[in-house]
Amino acid sequence: MSTNEHHVKMLILGSGPAGFSAALYAARAELAPGLLSGTQLGGQAALTYTIENYPGFPEGVGGAQLGELFQKQAEHFGARVEFDTANKVDLSTRPFKIETDTGEYQADTLIVTTGASPIHLNVPGEDMLVGRGVSYCATCDGAFFKDKKVLVVGGGDSALEEALFLTRYATSVTIVHRREELRAGPILQKRAKENPKIAFIFNTVVTEIRGKDKMEMALLKNVKTGEETSFTADGIFIFIGHTPNTQLFEGQLKMDSHGYIETDMLMQTNVPGVFAAGEAADPHFRQVITSAGMGAAAAIQATRFLEAESG
Ligand code: NAP
Repeated sequence: MSTNEHHVKMLILGSGPAGFSAALYAARAELAPGLLSGTQLGGQAALTYTIENYPGFPEGVGGAQLGELFQKQAEHFGARVEFDTANKVDLSTRPFKIETDTGEYQADTLIVTTGASPIHLNVPGEDMLVGRGVSYCATCDGAFFKDKKVLVVGGGDSALEEALFLTRYATSVTIVHRREELRAGPILQKRAKENPKIAFIFNTVVTEIRGKDKMEMALLKNVKTGEETSFTADGIFIFIGHTPNTQLFEGQLKMDSHGYIETDMLMQTNVPGVFAAGEAADPHFRQVITSAGMGAAAAIQATRFLEAESG
């Protein structure tokens, strides 16, 4: 085996709460698991400014800080974290083969915790103006909009939470939502409605984003009246949900119609020895705590799977 080929008992793909929790449990079972971080160390949680609903942190905890703590704890018990990304997998025979940016892994068991990515609006101008006014992450890009006017698209928890965060910088934050009622929970709704910098435009969708070198305006359409208007803004933050990062496993792992990996209650996929946890396999809860719990469960089950094999 060459230097960039590795054989591990357990390989974990993804470094969000599910991945690091799986790594912690597998490391404590003395399996010396490998964890490939993917492109976003800490996963989506690391892009969240403050996490207020993860137990043990009564004052809240920074998303990036929580990710670092997860990593430290897993490494402390022997997990090996590599800044590498899987590009191709062969799950047809064991050990499973995983080709990465830097080499190839052979793994006796695999835990897929590849998470999810933001959904795009798919309107004209959106792709062209990404990084020039169009953003999917307020924590990452909010500071570029100091004293500017921004739009937020969506009516869920993410849209409201990120809109509230953006009021630190922007002079005004206007939330555009396609319905009359918000989907977000009551606490966030109350905070957003009470914030003097936040305004709402309901029953409205964005049909186009315009700008030459950077965003200048969005075209809006009222879905009830059909009325079309333009809205001048320096930035637009889009939070309309996520899609699971599971394309790599298409044709090999069983998925639902949205691409979420199907597992049983023991986090087992249709391929014996392959487990899935976190947002790649969870269309329902999508919380840091639930992803962490699923990751731990997957590692416990994968450990039992290996034990059963070795007799
Ligand atoms: P979400 O709950 O699925 O909300 C997506 C929002 O985008 C909805 O309001 C939806 O409208 C709208 N939308 C979807 N497609 C659209 C389109 N093509 N054009 C315009 N609008 C569109 O997603 P999320 O806010 O990212 O939250 C995901 C999960 O994470 C949820 O379970 C949420 O509770 C959780 N979360 C929790 C917290 C927290 O607890 N602090 C923070 C962030 C996220 P409709 O309402 O009309 O469907």
